Amino acid sequence: MTAIDPSCIFCKIVGREIPADEVLRDEHVVAFRDVRPVAPTHILVVPTVHVAHLSGFAAQADTAASARLLAAAAEIGTRFGTRGYRVVTNEGSDAGQTVHHLHLHVLAGRSMAWPPG
Ligand code: 5GP
Ligand code: ZN
Repeated sequence: MTAIDPSCIFCKIVGREIPADEVLRDEHVVAFRDVRPVAPTHILVVPTVHVAHLSGFAAQADTAASARLLAAAAEIGTRFGTRGYRVVTNEGSDAGQTVHHLHLHVLAGRSMAWPPG
């Protein structure tokens, strides 16, 4: 884990170098609307430090930051998902991860199939 990666698009959003439609920001997390939403509500929740994916984050010692990431996803889901919501993270190529800064997708506003594709 590094504090920031200057080449990382989500670090640039955390650092306000590039704009995003933010819905929440604090010491540990930033949450913003996905630029290519796949549901009426599609919000990404990211840690303010650069970590590539969930495995790296789970292995690091800062339990306050990891607890806050999960709590923020729940807050956003509750706020925007009046009939429920889904929280997803993709890790690695099989899961289709495209941005290598950990993010939780919070999806809401439509009914969703299971299992996901
Ligand atoms: P992944 O495929 O890694 O799980 O999800 C990456 C997500 O980031 C995608 O849903 C993609 O639309 C979103 N994304 C990529 N670049 C940007 C950006 O610059 N701004 C915002 N708001 N979302 C982005
Ligand atoms: Zn980053």
